[in-house]
Amino acid sequence: MSKGWFTPAAEALRASAVGPVASFDPESTPGFDGDKESGSELLASRGQDLADLQELLYANGRSGDHRSVLLVLQGMDTAGKGGIVRHVGGLVDPQGLSIKGFGKPTPEELQHDFLWRIHKALPPAGRIGIFDRSHYEDVLPVRVHNLVPKAEWEKRYDIINQFESELVAGGTTIIKCCLVVSKDEQKARLAERLDRPDKYWKYNPGDIDERAHWDAYLEAYQDIFELTDKDSAPWFVIPANRKWFARLAVCELLTTTLAGLELDWPEADFDVEAEKKRLAASD
Ligand code: AMP
Ligand code: MG
Repeated sequence: MSKGWFTPAAEALRASAVGPVASFDPESTPGFDGDKESGSELLASRGQDLADLQELLYANGRSGDHRSVLLVLQGMDTAGKGGIVRHVGGLVDPQGLSIKGFGKPTPEELQHDFLWRIHKALPPAGRIGIFDRSHYEDVLPVRVHNLVPKAEWEKRYDIINQFESELVAGGTTIIKCCLVVSKDEQKARLAERLDRPDKYWKYNPGDIDERAHWDAYLEAYQDIFELTDKDSAPWFVIPANRKWFARLAVCELLTTTLAGLELDWPEADFDVEAEKKRLAASD
């Protein structure tokens, strides 16, 4: 039997299936029994499926369909969010993507509700939106560093659930992926950034300070999974020590999500036979 997914990724990686994130193994490959080589082969073929499905979504969007897909990426520094954008996003036509990253809020953003900047960044009809960090930062560093009082961040889980259910009702299909690296792997990746001039730009001295809050971040992630993992906006927990697996897994989840939309090519909004005759009759 060929190696591959023996359990669908959407089942094997679902937050509710993987157990507490504090004891999650970032080296594991849940649901998948292949190695790096078979994983890379599968990524290429599923990537083709993803590209075809993305074109279908885009074509429908151009024809007035209001659906879109939103992939939310979360994870500690160095977990590989940027790599997912490049290597999974890179499998499809860039015209069909809407990629937004969320850093520390600007003074202007801080004057508004935490969802203000998120609303402005939502994918238009027919697009796959990718959020590199998201509204979940407002219950991660904000919670860990008490950037707002507990009474305020505590309310945000319900606000987020409400916001996401409205998005879904409006035609956006949401999947949320949290990339999980081990603390040792993060150390190795930070060391590499310090060793390589071509990686200095990714290094932020603050990342080392954040390592001191590792357990508080894990707790904050655990609450996110317990409070905001809904069938209509599911969380997936992706072991990310092996980059090839994280990319394969996110590609698989995105591909099955798009396939689940069961889109067809839009009908022509012109008379095909009449146009053929006009073309034949033209010079
Ligand atoms: P990077 O993803 O490496 O560009 O870093 C972005 C930084 O912005 C990270 O340290 C995030 O935790 C931080 N960040 C993003 N959103 C927020 C937020 N709402 N409040 C505080 N910090 C944030
Ligand atoms: Mg960073």
